[in-house]
Amino acid sequence: MTNSTIEDKTKESRRSGAGPSSSVSGQSNEPGPDCPLCPRLKNYRDANRAQHPHWFNAPVYSFGPIDAQLVIVGLAPGLQGANRTGRPFTGDFAGDLLYGTLVEFGFAQGSYEARPDDGLMLIDCRITNAVRCVPPQNKPLPAEIKTCRTFFNATLDEMPRLRAIVMLGRVAHDSTLKTLGIRAPDAPFAHGAEFQAGAVRLFDSYHCSRYNTNTRRLTPEMFRAVFTSVRKYIG
Ligand code: SF4
Repeated sequence: MTNSTIEDKTKESRRSGAGPSSSVSGQSNEPGPDCPLCPRLKNYRDANRAQHPHWFNAPVYSFGPIDAQLVIVGLAPGLQGANRTGRPFTGDFAGDLLYGTLVEFGFAQGSYEARPDDGLMLIDCRITNAVRCVPPQNKPLPAEIKTCRTFFNATLDEMPRLRAIVMLGRVAHDSTLKTLGIRAPDAPFAHGAEFQAGAVRLFDSYHCSRYNTNTRRLTPEMFRAVFTSVRKYIG
């Protein structure tokens, strides 16, 4: 699968009218703050807005430069993390491990203080989610993952120098494969697995959630090993 194929697929979705629109969000390739495409997630958003009016409570946009060579794909905003603060992986435990590791490997600069105005900068790295809106119990439905793939697809499509994708967990893995048009049996999910997809190399990792680290399914050393490979590949 090549970058040109990714581009073609995205153009197709835009032509269909289902794709992202700069007229909706004010930013190209991201949904508007009141995106209605997933009714269950919209209702959850409305409920969270009523209960926590000072939280962000909207689709969370990708973070980091468009011309980055690396993109990291998560699942969806955490209720009290990105959904509260408005920046991916910011405000809950998953960000501690992710941003600490990114700083260690030179993909981020500054200090992560769990708030979007902490001045942390991503270097040659971008972070996005397979699903832009927080789902109840952190579990998006297959139809919601599919619907939001329009925006995920556009995120990859707008990155002209993209060479590496780190997929955090199975949902990110599966959605990335579908976006790139790769058959699931050709790239089975496994922590530490790598796949070449045309000009882009895919790296699998368990998600850096508190649950996975508390249960030792993912240790900081295992996470570092993935980024050691990524750094070696990107140079
Ligand atoms: S998950 Fe994506 S497609 Fe669904 S409502 Fe949110 S932004 Fe829209």
